[in-house]
Amino acid sequence: MKTGKKKTWLSRTLKSFVLFLSIAAVLSVFPAGKLLTVQAASKAKLNYSKRTLCVRSTLKLKVTGKSKKTVWKSDDPSVAAVNAAGKVIAQKIGNTVITATVGKKSYKCSIAVRDHNYESAPGAAVCTRCGAKKSGSLVPLTKLDRYQYFRKYMTDSQMQQAYKEAVKVTGPLKSLTLEDQLVGVASTLRKRFDSGMKYSMSASHYNDPYGYLVLGVASCAGCARATGFCLNVLGITYEHVNENKYSHQWARVKVGREYWICDAYGLYCGPEPAVRKHPYL
Ligand SMILES: [Zn+2]
Repeated sequence: MKTGKKKTWLSRTLKSFVLFLSIAAVLSVFPAGKLLTVQAASKAKLNYSKRTLCVRSTLKLKVTGKSKKTVWKSDDPSVAAVNAAGKVIAQKIGNTVITATVGKKSYKCSIAVRDHNYESAPGAAVCTRCGAKKSGSLVPLTKLDRYQYFRKYMTDSQMQQAYKEAVKVTGPLKSLTLEDQLVGVASTLRKRFDSGMKYSMSASHYNDPYGYLVLGVASCAGCARATGFCLNVLGITYEHVNENKYSHQWARVKVGREYWICDAYGLYCGPEPAVRKHPYL
């Protein structure tokens, strides 16, 4: 059990932000059969002219329809910084302007940085602007990171029943560190399994959170999904390792710079020994 890593969910998410550069090229085929490459330089455009961002959130700006290199600049990098790829990082509450210069032309985007805008719901608070979870709170059912994914396995009523059980699992963990939350979810779900659940690869809902949390039947796939469902309730995103494979499955979570295995079924919760490797398999 490691301690001292109290980075917020949001900052971890930001670190895993992936940058994309898109290159636009327009090809025209002429009747004579000649192939010409035409650069669309006339209709250059910045994808946003005005945005409100939450503190520590990011925005990808790009100039579309141009052929030359874009140079980025922030009027006040202490409010919102911009890197060479056009990624804006909101730093503190305030206003600034990001300028993209392409050749002799420049394009501007006004950036307002504000605090999170939490909507109040019993026991839950999620920012309506960026989706960040207020620390010490639970994520409402419809705001779960994998809500649409879980809906493929359960009806709305089954989702609600599974959520109610997941709140019982996660409620006592909501103010703990990420590591303690992972250990808490794994050990609580393991205790449920040990207190009379049935292993099944054929029962109805054997591979989803409703089966594990409500009906008391599970396979290791069901355990991994029930674990992931509970993690999402705590605002933790995860990867389902070996999903849909005929082998052991578990939830994989980014903890600081490493990844942890959260595996109630396989009785392990801690750093992975190697990428997507399980210490007991
Ligand atoms: Zn926010």
